[in-house]
Amino acid sequence: MNEAPKDFIREIIANDIKMGKYGGRVHTRFPPEPNGYLHIGHAKSILLNYGIAQDFKGKFNLRYDDTNPEKEEQEYVDAIKRDVQWLGAAWEDREFYASDYFEQLYQWAEELIKKGQAYVCDLSAEEVTAYRGTLQTPGRESPYRHRSIEENLDLLRRMRAGEFPDGSKTLRAKIDMAHPNLNMRDPVMYRIRHATHHRTGERWCIYPSYDWAHGQSDSIEGITHSICTLEFEDHRPLYDWFLDQLGIHHPQQIEFARLNLTYTVMSKRLLLQLVQEGHVRGWDDPRMPTIAALRRRGYTPEAIRDFMQRVGVTKVESIVEIEMLEHSLRQDLNKRALRRLAVLDPLRVVITNYPDDQIEEFEAINNPEDPSTGTRKVPFSKVLYIERDDFMENPPKDFYRLAPGREVRLRYAYFVKCVDVVKDAQGNALELRCTYDPATRGGDAPDGRKVKATIHWVSAQHAIEAEVRLYERLFTKPDPLDVPEGRSWKENINPNSLIVLQNCKLEPSLADAQAGDRVQFERKGYFCVDPDSTAKKVFNRTVDLKDTWAKLQRKQN
Ligand code: ATP
Ligand code: MG
Repeated sequence: MNEAPKDFIREIIANDIKMGKYGGRVHTRFPPEPNGYLHIGHAKSILLNYGIAQDFKGKFNLRYDDTNPEKEEQEYVDAIKRDVQWLGAAWEDREFYASDYFEQLYQWAEELIKKGQAYVCDLSAEEVTAYRGTLQTPGRESPYRHRSIEENLDLLRRMRAGEFPDGSKTLRAKIDMAHPNLNMRDPVMYRIRHATHHRTGERWCIYPSYDWAHGQSDSIEGITHSICTLEFEDHRPLYDWFLDQLGIHHPQQIEFARLNLTYTVMSKRLLLQLVQEGHVRGWDDPRMPTIAALRRRGYTPEAIRDFMQRVGVTKVESIVEIEMLEHSLRQDLNKRALRRLAVLDPLRVVITNYPDDQIEEFEAINNPEDPSTGTRKVPFSKVLYIERDDFMENPPKDFYRLAPGREVRLRYAYFVKCVDVVKDAQGNALELRCTYDPATRGGDAPDGRKVKATIHWVSAQHAIEAEVRLYERLFTKPDPLDVPEGRSWKENINPNSLIVLQNCKLEPSLADAQAGDRVQFERKGYFCVDPDSTAKKVFNRTVDLKDTWAKLQRKQN
């Protein structure tokens, strides 16, 4: 690597390489528990671990931390794979499972018993907690702590053989009940769970704890730098202790601050509640912060990578404004999304002086940011749709768009002037009657007269009908978990986070749009074709056009 390291972790690694640690090797991993879909926080960890492996020409593993059979499912395993792949993190042939190491872990557990460093304990989960003590007071030793090696081996073997009910015994490391770090006070290594595991089936009824499984799995895979979030800092002494007792390859654990975002909950447990209780339509509902949802909504991996670079990697907990993520997204979509004309809330317009059967085609620019995308033809005819809010019957002073007697430009086409409004019994506009000026073809008046607004439109007879889903933030508060004592964070769910528009009119070039395609509807935002599309297409609004982040930045500077 020629460039200077970009963050403190890369600095540590660059130094390790210089010192010849691990023979100069770099090997990282992403270790998800398959108990839910990955979220944008996980994306940070994935891109960090993968990015480091790339920068240092090392390797990157995907390892499922599947030690908790009751909460884990194959659906999640598959979803995780799709998401990591989509983010561009390539694990090549290194897809691993902690459950593949169960036998080795068990053998190592017997080894620790034989060295007098682990024992079978009959205390219940509540008793173990009670005996553990607090930060201020030391713990008490379990009455089972001094069982003989023979008895411990016999009991562990019988635990494995299924002789004991759930919760009746655990295997614990024998470390120090007065240790200032609570994690070192004889932590649990195995629990009894008569449960079916999504990979090992009924083969096991004892399952390793996170602490017992994680470091040893890292070691088995030859991981050099085990990068995780700050909440594991207190677990590092235990991580190190197990590896040292076993005398096996010893990766270095390094912690960084997790990603937090405003208006977002970032815990699989809470996301699962949103799904199970029907607050959203599923894990990949575009309002969710899951990677699957962001993809469905129209996010690009490039935008997420750009965002992570802006956020950086530190040891300081912080909350990042979601506007920053949206800023990265807009920057990327601006470069890649083709512009299209679409009317989301249509108002019919009849051009009274336009020949009944005439159709013209106008050349429209696909993307001004990328001339290589060329142009397309957009048909124009006597009956059009415009956006309902581009017209006002009694406009205030600062409204420059269409109004009775007022002239505006139709994008790429002509100047039109509103001469009459057809209304329903309640006085709502049903249809506008306009005249056009043939001399303004292409959008400018030869006599030099100006209009103050240019609006978009779609030819009625050529329009494609579509459903458009508009999303607002899922929560009404920047910190959704901020609720008064005794109240639920779910009270902060925004009841209006989804607005469905059924009668949208799109220009005909969108007829072939496929699920996942991203476009900009001019003046309306970025949109993405949803997989729910049938003969009638469904579009998700990815993000609108107003860059609130840029504005926030200007204000702060
Ligand atoms: P959650 O707390 O959201 O349920 P988790 O930490 O239980 O997530 P795991 O599957 O155990 O989920 O996490 C896999 C990896 O992703 C871990 O190394 C963890 O440190 C990392 N990770 C989880 N959340 C974040 C986050 N918000 N920012 C950065 N990394 C994260
Ligand atoms: Mg976890």
